[in-house]
Amino acid sequence: MKRFALISGLIGALVCAGAQAQPRGHQLPADNLTQLSAHVWAIEGGSPTIAIVVGHKATLIVDDGLGTPNGRIVLDAAHKLSTNGQKLYLTTTHYHAEHATGDGAFPADTVLVRPRVQQAELEAEGQKLVDLFAGRSPDDKALLQDMHYLKPGILFDSDYRLDLGGVKVRLAWFGPAHTRGDEVVMVEPDSVLISGDVVQNKAAPYFYCSECTPESWLAVVDKIAAQFHPKIVVPDHSPPGNASLIAETRAFMASLATRIQALKAEGKSADEAGKIVTAEMQAKYPDWGSLNRLQLGVTHAYAQ
Ligand SMILES: [Zn+2]
Repeated sequence: MKRFALISGLIGALVCAGAQAQPRGHQLPADNLTQLSAHVWAIEGGSPTIAIVVGHKATLIVDDGLGTPNGRIVLDAAHKLSTNGQKLYLTTTHYHAEHATGDGAFPADTVLVRPRVQQAELEAEGQKLVDLFAGRSPDDKALLQDMHYLKPGILFDSDYRLDLGGVKVRLAWFGPAHTRGDEVVMVEPDSVLISGDVVQNKAAPYFYCSECTPESWLAVVDKIAAQFHPKIVVPDHSPPGNASLIAETRAFMASLATRIQALKAEGKSADEAGKIVTAEMQAKYPDWGSLNRLQLGVTHAYAQ
């Protein structure tokens, strides 16, 4: 994909400083800021990719990392890009801890905006994810010390439009896919879709919520395909790509949903069907990662 040339000395310094540092656990790199389009930047090389959309009046940050120290890295990058004293907006692709627990670094006048469904899911399930991450790695536990959530300033049902000054963005919720509250962000003049976990680049779906099924995910991707025609797609846990990522995700979900229906009709148990579709999709998509998690999608589909 075409990358924008690094035009300013400031940005060059950001990219080059400490370039040897390797991220550990969910520690974001402080030195991997890349310009993807006229207004969109990404902190790449960590988990997840963080997107920053810069207008002349306001800056929108999409995801703020695991814990306050990562939030500081994200805020620092946003400040360096916001040379006009832009107002800060923060949003999250979903409520999972590595996306939504960096809030503590942000000044109180940051406007947090997210789908109502996502906020409810965060309030109900967020702590479970914080405990899960803290229990899995001492590094992540340290990052999560003293984390706290910002109170949302704007909650929306399915659609919210922000004018950042010279760049309009659309925040959208289309239904359950990876989680109940997945959000995607379309940066209209740049034709960039920030797609979270919903559209990824050769990374298999993780059906995290009980309503998350191949059918529900397919319905979300259908809406994305009908409404947005991006030139660049920026997923959270895989490299950026073009609109073909949307078509690939649709094809994957359609194929998975059809096979699950057929296996259910044949009388296969959810476990049997899970093993069969996992083997089939591994054969069909040999270069995709995380294909060992498809059982959850089968289990959820059978329970519907
Ligand atoms: Zn997630």
